[in-house]
Amino acid sequence: MPGASGKAGLSISKLREQIRELRRTNRELNDRVVELDCLYQILRSLTATMSLAQTADALRNFFTSRFQVERFALYLRDEDSGTFVLRNSYRLPRETEGHIRLPLQPWLQSVCSKGYCFRSDALSEDEPLAQLIGPGVSAFVLSLKGLDGRDVGLVALGRGAAERFSRRDAELLRKLGKQIGPMIGAMMHFEKTKELSFTDPLTGVHNRRYFNQVYVREFERARRYSRPLSVLMIDIDHFKIYNDTLGHLAGDALLRRLAQELADNLRRTDYLARYGGEEFAVLLPETDYERACRVAEKLRRQVELTRFDGEEVQPEGKLTISVGAASYPRHADDPLQLLEMADRSLYGAKANGRNQVGPAPEELYGVVLNSRASGSRPQP
Ligand code: GH3
Ligand code: MG
Ligand code: MG
Repeated sequence: MPGASGKAGLSISKLREQIRELRRTNRELNDRVVELDCLYQILRSLTATMSLAQTADALRNFFTSRFQVERFALYLRDEDSGTFVLRNSYRLPRETEGHIRLPLQPWLQSVCSKGYCFRSDALSEDEPLAQLIGPGVSAFVLSLKGLDGRDVGLVALGRGAAERFSRRDAELLRKLGKQIGPMIGAMMHFEKTKELSFTDPLTGVHNRRYFNQVYVREFERARRYSRPLSVLMIDIDHFKIYNDTLGHLAGDALLRRLAQELADNLRRTDYLARYGGEEFAVLLPETDYERACRVAEKLRRQVELTRFDGEEVQPEGKLTISVGAASYPRHADDPLQLLEMADRSLYGAKANGRNQVGPAPEELYGVVLNSRASGSRPQP
């Protein structure tokens, strides 16, 4: 019966069509589940982070574990210079790590405006994308944008020959990027605000608030691990004369110059802060009193030798500083007491004629102050 077989043929082809449709829906649902699972995981790990560094670590962990990438790089945009700075990475080749600051060249600009860029074959060495993730891998570069649409960074991923990036990966990654970008942007904004609240606007060095925070932390660390720690207090000699003669604007400019000079002569691990009007404090972790005095003398001498604008008006014809120094555990048991000792040493320097490092706190009291270091108690 041609009619019946025709009907059967029709329903078989209809069935096939339905099966195809079901498979397509199934695939789409699968993709959606993967996507939601990824989003859930990334949002969960990012909301638990308290700093940009933690956020960057969370992203690296997410992409290396959940996305099976061989290489990972996170670049964040530096507003001031307009460059992309490498902030976190996983298994980047050494030569790529050298590209820690990438200017916004046209190729990078086009990745940013398109939102992403990927290569399913292996990158060769001379291709621009290899600057981000290194050669020899299939690469995906995702541009991250803040809520206001501004570029905040780039995630670059690399996969080996076995598993290259596909269009489906691209779809998923773009969706993830839309969630990650605003979170990174907000975190960068938060860090910038925090940084500003810890910076002295006149000199650009850290302010007293920051110093106090770091000081308490470092003091605790020194105590816990029985490590030395020193504090320097620096005060400009006869700064009132400079200000009264040349004006406050010249005085402000001098404070800026001096701060720079001090910062240039300290190590990266030391902390310099503007402590008050024309006073600076330096925290020297892992530094005992002898070494602290050497640092203090180096700073004093450097300022004495440096030529500052208008310094002829000063009593000695040059700008000088006095420095007080005190150390844990030798001079104090607690942070406040140690600052007090450094301050007294500074006043000792002033009393002895300025432009010098002050006497050791124990000399001011006639005894060594700390019982643990000397066997005698501090004097009140
Ligand atoms: P000494 O050697 O005893 O430290 O003398 P001095 O004149 O430096 O000390 P004094 O404490 O009498 O004066 C400190 C001066 O520092 C007062 C003020 O003119 C100046 N000063 C403090 N903060 C600022 C500031 O932010 N800008 C400027 N331009 N001057 C400041
Ligand atoms: Mg002063
Ligand atoms: Mg002074």
